[in-house]
Amino acid sequence: MSQRDPYEVLGVTRSASADEIKSAYRRLARRYHPDVNPDDPTAEEKFKEASNAYEILSDAEKKARYDQYGTTDGIPQDPFFGGANVGGIGDLFEMFFGATQGGARRRSSAIDGDDLRVDVMVTLQEVLTGVIKEVDVRRESECESCTGTGVEGGGQPQQCPNCQGSGVVTAVKNTFLGQMRTQTPCNRCAGTGILITNPCKNCSGRGVRPVTEKVSINIPAGVEKGMMIQMPGHGSDGVRGGRPGDLHVVLHVDEDGPFVRRGQHLITGYDITVVQAILGDEVSIDGVEGELTLDIPAGAQPGQQIVLKGQGLPPVHGGKRGDLVVELTVVIPNKVSEAQALLMREFAELRGERIPKEKGGFLDGIFGKKK
Ligand SMILES: [Zn+2]
Ligand SMILES: [Zn+2]
Repeated sequence: MSQRDPYEVLGVTRSASADEIKSAYRRLARRYHPDVNPDDPTAEEKFKEASNAYEILSDAEKKARYDQYGTTDGIPQDPFFGGANVGGIGDLFEMFFGATQGGARRRSSAIDGDDLRVDVMVTLQEVLTGVIKEVDVRRESECESCTGTGVEGGGQPQQCPNCQGSGVVTAVKNTFLGQMRTQTPCNRCAGTGILITNPCKNCSGRGVRPVTEKVSINIPAGVEKGMMIQMPGHGSDGVRGGRPGDLHVVLHVDEDGPFVRRGQHLITGYDITVVQAILGDEVSIDGVEGELTLDIPAGAQPGQQIVLKGQGLPPVHGGKRGDLVVELTVVIPNKVSEAQALLMREFAELRGERIPKEKGGFLDGIFGKKK
């Protein structure tokens, strides 16, 4: 077995990332795969060399040992990569390239993956900043046992002899108008053009299996409920060269908190006392982002709105934040003590206002029964 520098073989630098190493290997594997180069005896050697290099560089432990000692000596030779085991390499190839191997794709047998929908709830705080959500998505994923072909062991399905792989059969009928040709889907292969006589046990010949996968969804700031994020290719995998479906992320916004949303503006209520309403005050309130100072003007009226500019939500495509509108409720005490009542009367007197009739108070308790 040759001992060329695996970095040199794959044409990558020593600082190449795992992804760079993988794609370099894929490129070489595609170019030198024996199935693609049946007439080139050197291709298989190059393919094995690339596979050996990849085996070292894709394995963190082996890579570290190679980087340290500059040799693969002492690294156990995986029988998988022994010269006689071309089938194993073929499996590896299929693991990467699936059903498209050798250009043997049959259009009629390709099935596109389904589009999927997932619903995601975000809080107003997340609307403010944007958020990346990890969501479990139940999708059909390419079967790892048969690499999506549906054939046990990963071979290619047979072409249907009934329709020669076209998926349709032509019937000629004699009618009173003459001969009529009709095309109907082949019933032997259900219109797929292929027959799987030895279906993969892992996926029952379907080529895909249901899996639950975590998907990271990048939700921008400013989203509103009902908005949809499209993630092309994140739906179910296609079969035999079919396109993967899309993932539609439908957004919901949790507005159960203290804020009512009106587009980019937020509305909230705040209770103040009669005295605060009369004298004004400066208080802390909860904004969507944290505490804010609310300046209550003297003489504030019930239902009065105070606008805190720029304390609402951003628009979805960037720009200035909306406002936070605080609506004041003046809470009138439903009971006061005698001392407080006296002060209130004094207050009315000072203002030259009518002094209310006494009732329900201390004097009523003593004299009320005389009525
Ligand atoms: Zn399978
Ligand atoms: Zn058929």
